[in-house]
Amino acid sequence: MKGRLKIDELTFSAAHYLKGHPQCQALHGHTYFVRDIEILYELPGSEFLDFTTIEAVINYFDHKLLVPLEDNSYWLSLAAPCKLDCVAMPNTTSESLVEDIINRIWSIPGVKFVSLSVFEGPNQGAKYSTGGET
Ligand SMILES: [Zn+2]
Repeated sequence: MKGRLKIDELTFSAAHYLKGHPQCQALHGHTYFVRDIEILYELPGSEFLDFTTIEAVINYFDHKLLVPLEDNSYWLSLAAPCKLDCVAMPNTTSESLVEDIINRIWSIPGVKFVSLSVFEGPNQGAKYSTGGET
């Protein structure tokens, strides 16, 4: 089955910091808005891509500490005693986060196109697509 899955908005809450950024280098948190999710897919027979599969991808980030890869070993040393649940990524900007989410959805079998935006605040977001045109 060929299908198109559209989801207006999903949210998750996470903490992060941006190294070297004058305002954002202190540890702080956001409710992130993942908007305008559009996925084209093709699966065998009557199989379809369930909304909950995408929801699980987004929920993976919920109540996590997003850390730059270069700081990961430091945070891992604190993870157990402080009960931290970290996600390491090249950096913790919206751009990096949108690419990470796209790559996780892209790895789902049958997915042919993914487009979405991630906002950490009003007018503070990034959009990314992969897999061709809709
Ligand atoms: Zn922030």
